[in-house]
Amino acid sequence: MKLGIVGLPNVGKSTLFNAITNAGAESANYPFCTIDPNVGVVAVPDARLDWLSDFYKPKKTTPAVIEFVDIAGLVKGASRGEGLGNKFLANIRETNAIVHVVRCFDDENVIHVEGSTDPVRDIGIIDIELIMADVEMVERRIDKAQKAAKSDKKFLHEVELFTALRDWMNDGNSARSFQCDEEDRAIIATSELLSLKPIIYAANLDEDGFADYQNVSYYKQVEEIAAKEGAQVIPVCAKLEAEIAELDGEEKAMFLEDMGIQESGLDRLIKASYTLLGLISFLTAGEDECRAWTITNGTKAPQAAGKIHTDFERGFIRAEVVAFEDLKANGSMNAAKEKGLVRSEGKEYVMHDGDIVLFRFNV
Ligand code: GDP
Repeated sequence: MKLGIVGLPNVGKSTLFNAITNAGAESANYPFCTIDPNVGVVAVPDARLDWLSDFYKPKKTTPAVIEFVDIAGLVKGASRGEGLGNKFLANIRETNAIVHVVRCFDDENVIHVEGSTDPVRDIGIIDIELIMADVEMVERRIDKAQKAAKSDKKFLHEVELFTALRDWMNDGNSARSFQCDEEDRAIIATSELLSLKPIIYAANLDEDGFADYQNVSYYKQVEEIAAKEGAQVIPVCAKLEAEIAELDGEEKAMFLEDMGIQESGLDRLIKASYTLLGLISFLTAGEDECRAWTITNGTKAPQAAGKIHTDFERGFIRAEVVAFEDLKANGSMNAAKEKGLVRSEGKEYVMHDGDIVLFRFNV
């Protein structure tokens, strides 16, 4: 699962991406991750894993991770192939969701490609590029459906649906905001449109703005746009995040306390991204290793076991599960067991975020 970082030049994408790579996880532990200078692998902050790690003092603690891709160079005209337009659009196509970095700071020393800070205009420019690239794809889809409809009338519905979508997008709207029922949404989802991808706005403020973001009008403008799309806005100060990301755990906590904030913007962004992708974590805990494992929301126990090892899924017998909060509240696994809070779950069990699990399986 990858998120693409997009935005106009000079809005702070690389700075944010540097923060991500500074905070980077040891990618050797994550063989499924892409090795590419444009991809940053970052640990998902998880207070539960920290607690387990303090409790068990394991040899190794392994957090869940997600990947961010730095998609630099998206400029006006990209959908017409200007700049390296097509390449960038292809890179976005490979991601599962988008982080749109929006410049919400003034700085005479940092040239703005459009001459001034204006989040609404900037978001519009990027949106239009993604939408125009999508319109081209939708046109092709209409052509295909029209041909298919000649021999099979059921494709007429697709022609109608995609024509309505094209008209909507030609008015400058994203596919994300197109109104239709679940069934039609599923049909549209097969078209891999850029403007359909889930999105988070990262409002990049300067230090002063970040400390008081609710009162920054640039931030409010982004919030308004996001609200219309049902999207989230995360305030960040990319410059500061890059500095914070170089600190270790304790230093970082002290630094944040000095600033009067509980959580860095980057940590919030990472968590929000994880949720946006529909991901949750279950945990395994012991003296060898404490680890958070990534699954999609709705995954059943055997498939979760399969994340650890394919043998665990094949030979799955049952899962012994305790909710993290129950373990924490009772202070030990035995105490939780005595209260009947450690459950034995079968193969239909749907995993919850924060489940601590021991899988029983046949080899
Ligand atoms: P990109 O082109 O979007 O990747 O932008 P960069 O990350 O290269 O940033 C462009 C310039 O803006 C750099 O000189 C950064 O130091 C500066 N910059 C980035 N974030 C901030 C910020 O939060 N505040 C201020 N004042 N400058 C920033």
